[in-house]
Amino acid sequence: MCYFICEKCGEKIYPIDGFLSWQREDGILANFQIAHRKYSDPQNNACVTLFEVVDEDGFMGFIKYLIDCWGDGLTLEGHESLLRVFTKMYEYRNQRLKDLLYANE
Ligand SMILES: [Zn+2]
Repeated sequence: MCYFICEKCGEKIYPIDGFLSWQREDGILANFQIAHRKYSDPQNNACVTLFEVVDEDGFMGFIKYLIDCWGDGLTLEGHESLLRVFTKMYEYRNQRLKDLLYANE
């Protein structure tokens, strides 16, 4: 079964138990992270469950949200956190696809 690793406690985190959170304040987007809710950084004031963003529609919706934010003039502070989140989502989705493809072998 596919899972993420919580950025705060280092434990496995399944999409149903995990959250993608970030800070949206004063025209900036910052501090994207994947974590159990109880460990999310307190300054992060926006979040969705991982379950909502790992499927095709959710992933596209998240990208659209970012494009809309940038279109509205928000800026990304510290791109590393968003890059890290996208890398984790890519790895998760890649593993899930492999599991589906080879499930019957
Ligand atoms: Zn955790």
